Amino acid sequence: MFEKLLGKLRIPHLKSTASCEPVVMDAPSEVIFPTLQHRGKPAIPVVKATDTVKVGQLIAEADGKMSSPIYSSVSGKVTKIDLHLGADGRKYPSIRIESDGLMTVCEDIKPPVVEDLDTLIEAIHASGIIGLGGAGFPTAVKLEGVKNNKLETVIINGAECEPYLTCDARMMLDNPELIFEGVELLKKYLPDTPRFIFGIETNKPECIETVARVFADDESVSVMPLPTLYPQGAEKVLIYNTLGITVPENKLPIELGVMVMNVTTLALIAKYVKDGMPLTSRCVTLDGSAVKEPKNVIVPIGAKVRDVIEFAGGLKCEAAKIILGGPMTGVSIYSDEEPVIKTTGGIIALSKKDALANKSTACIHCGRCTEACPQLLDPTSFGRAAKLDNVDDKMQLLDESRINLCVECGSCSFVCPANRPILENIRTMKASLREYKAHKAGLK
Ligand code: SF4
Ligand code: SF4
Repeated sequence: MFEKLLGKLRIPHLKSTASCEPVVMDAPSEVIFPTLQHRGKPAIPVVKATDTVKVGQLIAEADGKMSSPIYSSVSGKVTKIDLHLGADGRKYPSIRIESDGLMTVCEDIKPPVVEDLDTLIEAIHASGIIGLGGAGFPTAVKLEGVKNNKLETVIINGAECEPYLTCDARMMLDNPELIFEGVELLKKYLPDTPRFIFGIETNKPECIETVARVFADDESVSVMPLPTLYPQGAEKVLIYNTLGITVPENKLPIELGVMVMNVTTLALIAKYVKDGMPLTSRCVTLDGSAVKEPKNVIVPIGAKVRDVIEFAGGLKCEAAKIILGGPMTGVSIYSDEEPVIKTTGGIIALSKKDALANKSTACIHCGRCTEACPQLLDPTSFGRAAKLDNVDDKMQLLDESRINLCVECGSCSFVCPANRPILENIRTMKASLREYKAHKAGLK
C-alpha cells in the first residue's frame, strides 16, 4: 500500500441496507425516460405518442458512439414526449409511458452474437449499459480505447465509497457468478491479457472474502482491500491507490495501460451477453432519516421516486429533502415525480431536522474545501468566478482554475462549515464553460 493515499475524508458509512437483499419492484403506472441518462449526446426517440411498447423494446436510439440507447422497462403505451429539466439545468426530450401492468417482454430479445472484441463492444453499446457507478460514461467507448493502447490492468471498482449506498456490495454478495463470467468475458476478448484488480473498501469484509473466494484459482485476478477514505471510488483516486499511478491532466487512464470498470457494470454486461435483455432496471438503495424501511430495490428505470418510496413502505415523516444518488455526489430534487435513470444508485430522503442542518450561509474563507479536494483544486476560485459579471472573465477564471478536472466527488461541499452548495455550483459552471467553449469554437 502506498504511503500517501489520495482521498482524505473519513465520512460516516451509514450502510444500514448492507444486509438487505434487493426486492423487485412491481410495474408502476407510469415511467419517464429522459433521453440523456449518460455522458455524451442525448438518445433520439424512435417511438411516438400512442405507440405500444414492450419490456426491452428500443424507445430511443443512440446518437453515435458517445451516446447510449434507451429501452422500455414496462409494457404499455407511449403517452407523450415532452421536455425534461436535467440536473445540469438543460432540457431534454423525455418519453412517458403508461404501463399496462403486464410487463410483457419484447419478442426481439435474444442474446447477442459475441465472437471477438468488436462484437463485444457492439453488444455492450447495444445493451444500453453505461458506467453504473454514477459516472454514466458509455462503457463501449471505454473498451474502444484498448484497440490503440496496450492494456495492462483492469481495475474493477467495488469501492462504493458513498454513505448509504450498498447496491454494488449486494451485487458482489448475491451475484458473484455474474462477476466471474464478466471477468472471463473480458479475458477472452481483450487483446493484451491484462491482470485484474478488485478495489474494495475494508468496510465490506464479506465482499472482499466472496470475490477472493470466487477467483481463488485465478492468478491473474487479485483483490485489494482499500481503506475507507472518501472518494476512494473516484477513477483517478482508485488508480493511484491501487497502482500508485497518477493520471496526468490531459491523459486518459487507458493511455497508461489502465481501465477502470464498476463491478455492477461488469456483472450486467455478463448478464446481457447471456440473456440479451438490455438495461431496463437497476438496483437502487432507498435510505435516509425520513424512510420508514430502508432497503435495496430493483427498480424499473423510469419509475418515479414517489412510486419507489411507496412500494418500499413509504416515509415515516415528511421528507424535507430528497437526493437522487448518494449524499455526496447526488442531486437534490424538487419533486418526487422525478424518475430513476440509469445512473441512479440511491434515493436518500431526509427529515426536516437533517435537511435543515444543511442550511447554507456565507463563505467564511476557512480553506477546508481546498484542503479536502483529491484533485488538488481550489473550489474557492470557482466561487470567485461565479461572482464576476463579465462572462469572458468568468470563463477565463474557471478555465484557469481547471474546473474541468473536478471529479464531482462532493468532498468540498461535505467539509464546508458554511454548507455552501459548492458541488451544485460547480456542475452548473462546468456546463456553462462547456457551452461557452463550444460557442467560441463555432460549434454552436
Ligand atoms: S472541487 Fe470537485 S474534485 Fe475537488 S472536492 Fe470539490 S467536487 Fe471533489
Ligand atoms: S469550506 Fe466553505 S466556508 Fe470554507 S472556504 Fe470553502 S466555501 Fe468557504
